[in-house]
Amino acid sequence: MTLVSSCAPTLQRDVRELAPVDGWRVIEPAGTGRAWCPCGTDTGTVVWADALSAHQWHTPVR
Ligand SMILES: [Zn+2]
Repeated sequence: MTLVSSCAPTLQRDVRELAPVDGWRVIEPAGTGRAWCPCGTDTGTVVWADALSAHQWHTPVR
């Protein structure tokens, strides 16, 4: 994996919606997510920890 200076990755955490409780929507983390980056990297849907580490890899140190 190569860090490119133009990297500006986007991180998305998947959620799932459960049955409503007393009329309230109930949303919880699904345990998966996705990170993608202008440099061409796209993890697709992977476990959250992998998406997170890919995102960190592609976040330039400022
Ligand atoms: Zn990148």
